[in-house]
Amino acid sequence: MMRLPRFRYFAPRTVREAVRIKTDAGPQSAYVAGGTDLYPNMKRRQQTPQVVVGLSRIPALARIRSGSDGVSIGSAVPLSAVEGHRRLRRDYPGLVHAVEEISTPPLRNMGTLGGNLLLDTRCNYYDQNFEWRQAIQFCLKKDGNVCWVAPGSPKCLAVQSADSVPVLIALGAHALLVSPEGERDIAVEDLYRNDGIAYLTKQPEELLKEIRLPKPDGWRASYRKLRRRGAFDFPVLSVGAAVRGEGGLVAECRLVLGGVSSAPVRLSASEDILRGHPLDDESIAAAADAAAGPSRPMDNTDFSFLWRKEMTRKFVAAALEDLASG
Ligand SMILES: Cc1cc2nc3c(=O)[nH]c(=O)nc-3n(C[C@H](O)[C@H](O)[C@H](O)COP(=O)(O)OP(=O)(O)OC[C@H]3O[C@@H](n4cnc5c(N)ncnc54)[C@H](O)[C@@H]3O)c2cc1C
Repeated sequence: MMRLPRFRYFAPRTVREAVRIKTDAGPQSAYVAGGTDLYPNMKRRQQTPQVVVGLSRIPALARIRSGSDGVSIGSAVPLSAVEGHRRLRRDYPGLVHAVEEISTPPLRNMGTLGGNLLLDTRCNYYDQNFEWRQAIQFCLKKDGNVCWVAPGSPKCLAVQSADSVPVLIALGAHALLVSPEGERDIAVEDLYRNDGIAYLTKQPEELLKEIRLPKPDGWRASYRKLRRRGAFDFPVLSVGAAVRGEGGLVAECRLVLGGVSSAPVRLSASEDILRGHPLDDESIAAAADAAAGPSRPMDNTDFSFLWRKEMTRKFVAAALEDLASG
């Protein structure tokens, strides 16, 4: 049985108190929301914070608020509450669908939307217990010197694997971060860095307070996910797509891949192909073809990376067909 290491647990009641405790505790500390990512990682000794700052008792993080400019979702809102929220289901069905694809109902009751955005990157050589990793002399992401996926690589290639992220980026969502210096609002797209170790641009003490969705204003989104088991599994390729139509043509669009790199990948060439054209078989096929180039999966997760690259075309086409028929 894998046991948690010893740590001190704090349960602050306000955002300010949480940020202060985390900042004072320094690098050997972590926030925890639902714990469905952090605690398994701690059991495997991938992360060993001595201080853990719980966020589940902070009312300000547990609210979904609707306003004239959109909806803001507190970072500690459970995934199941996102799924069940009437306005989110009506106005952002693509996001709700992506959330429904995350793990299992019990895990979605514990796991939060904020935790999903900040999910650790994944790799076959990293998501193993301590003894397994020790037997291969660990890897670059934790305790080792070599990236076993590509031993010549100077950086870790673990993959971004959070289901909600491609759709949130496609919808133009923003994240509100709080630090001792104050608050800052950044596009969710700018939260990620293409490095399997330092995969976030967020500072360690910054707390993700809320996720802000702009008003739909004609935008519609879809999500497609490749995984081995239909019941539950992390994505090994995913597509978030969003379009805004005008007069039968695509006026604006955003296409985002997950599961193929340490950061989500924006498909700008495919977006350029769609803009100004009807969302028909011809433009969808051209946009899907252009998506294969920027999709560069590595051999570090389920399925062969060449097949995942090939499947990019089909999944981008499927995500766009969902929007064309919806
Ligand atoms: C069996 C299993 C299957 C899973 N399948 C999937 C899947 O299919 N798709 C998927 O996307 N995920 C999956 N997950 C991962 C996880 O359940 C979800 O990503 C969940 O949303 C994580 O949320 P959490 O609140 O539990 O995160 P936590 O474990 O609490 O936190 C995750 C990370 O975010 C940090 N953090 C959390 N909240 C904040 C905050 N407000 N501010 C700053 N830092 C914060 C923590 O320090 C930690 O580093 C799976 C997990 C398990 C155990």
